[in-house]
Amino acid sequence: MNDCLFCKMISGEIPCDIVYENKSVLAFRDIDPKAPTHILVIPKKHIQSINALKASEQNLAGELLLTAQKIAQIEDIAVSGFRTIFNTNTHGGQTVFHIHMHIMGGRQMNWPPG
Ligand code: 5GP
Ligand code: ZN
Repeated sequence: MNDCLFCKMISGEIPCDIVYENKSVLAFRDIDPKAPTHILVIPKKHIQSINALKASEQNLAGELLLTAQKIAQIEDIAVSGFRTIFNTNTHGGQTVFHIHMHIMGGRQMNWPPG
């Protein structure tokens, strides 16, 4: 999508600090980290949010979770623990409308989230 920030990262038009990449997903460090480890995982295909996911994209959706597992190992937060979050639309606090999974770790997370 032309005017999407995360699509520009996928194309390389806007630089980002890549942690992991394969043919279908990209993981990079959040520019404004809310935890010692704060990584975003996105599909390379533009999908706005969980609301826009199609049944035909279930493998891709699942791959985001398996990428979280991989990144937790790479970042050494698998054992200590981490949080994964998908924000959706206004009440969810979504600000970038290309579906992304936050992975946060390296400190104790609070519950419930704000
Ligand atoms: P949301 O609020 O949509 O769930 O999350 C969007 C995330 O993207 C935020 O945590 C924000 O810090 C991050 N973000 C926004 N602009 C950029 C950018 O230019 N580069 C990177 N690496 N992260 C960004
Ligand atoms: Zn996009």
